[in-house]
Amino acid sequence: MSMHSTSTVSYPRADVDPPSGSLFPHKHLLGIWGLDPTSIKHLLDVADGYADQNRTANKNSSICAGLTQINLFFENSTRTLMSFEIAGKRLGLDTISMSTGSSSIKKGETLLDTAATLNAMHPDVLVVRHGDSGAVKLLSEKMDCAVINAGDGRAEHPTQALLDALTIRRRKGQIHGQTIVICGDIAHSRVARSNIYLLNAMGARVRLVAPPTLLPKDVDRLGVEVFHRMDEGLKGADVVMMLRLQQERMKGAFLPSLREYYKFWGLTREKLNAAKDDVLIMHPGPMNRGVEIASDVADDIDRSAIEEQVEMGVAVRMACIDVLTRGLPQRVNADKAEETKS
Ligand code: ASP
Repeated sequence: MSMHSTSTVSYPRADVDPPSGSLFPHKHLLGIWGLDPTSIKHLLDVADGYADQNRTANKNSSICAGLTQINLFFENSTRTLMSFEIAGKRLGLDTISMSTGSSSIKKGETLLDTAATLNAMHPDVLVVRHGDSGAVKLLSEKMDCAVINAGDGRAEHPTQALLDALTIRRRKGQIHGQTIVICGDIAHSRVARSNIYLLNAMGARVRLVAPPTLLPKDVDRLGVEVFHRMDEGLKGADVVMMLRLQQERMKGAFLPSLREYYKFWGLTREKLNAAKDDVLIMHPGPMNRGVEIASDVADDIDRSAIEEQVEMGVAVRMACIDVLTRGLPQRVNADKAEETKS
């Protein structure tokens, strides 16, 4: 059974006056929501260049030398934290990372105190992951420097959506017109939400496949087609994005059992037969093999782009840091020096 929602979604523009000539007229990167296609394309174009550069021996540059980057992670992370650290270092920033178990951090005033403390240290870039939706935006309001959202609650994970988009664009040539299926635990997934905003803004056809209990309440307003059966949702798909079952965010019973979940919504070779032959398989990680995805599908060297997603993550994060620090006095001097050299 499928439920089709054909609503047209209008994407708001962030109300910032563009500094003359800037293709990314935003101080922070808090989400994909609010970015227009030009801003998204600009980040992807810059990231594309870094992706090529990262495959050469000259991966490092010093365009951001003298700048300080703080990575503040209130939730666990492997890929995202490492990737932001590497990205900052490759651009020449001094990067410092701080991870805190969410249990030891109180909300409200404490978060704002943290912001005030960090602001007093004059960082140039602050990368934040937090378990609560909206917490990164709250922090950004107290910071003088650029703030990048590395995942907030169930709300957004903009750099994940950008790296997914870069992976698709490099593999498929374009995002526009692709049929992209996002499957699994959509209700708890900030990755799904950021991807839906971005893929819709860039003209893809977005489908969701999930059991009704794992769909967000506002699904009708997301401008997507919704399916509950994998064979229907995957029909003719160009790209399939599997999501991790986020059991740590589930309070109560969302599923009968993991075995049953795998049977109906786990991606297997057999279910994949409904998609196009050259379907691209993606997963943001970490993967639950044998729960949302079969191992042989995840490791299919012809169709799986899962490792490439990680690779593109570094390039996208370099692009975000680069673009958000353009115009800082240190950058202006370094950029001028570069120009005189060449
Ligand atoms: N790593 C992604 C996130 O932080 C996806 C996941 O955890 O399942 O949202």
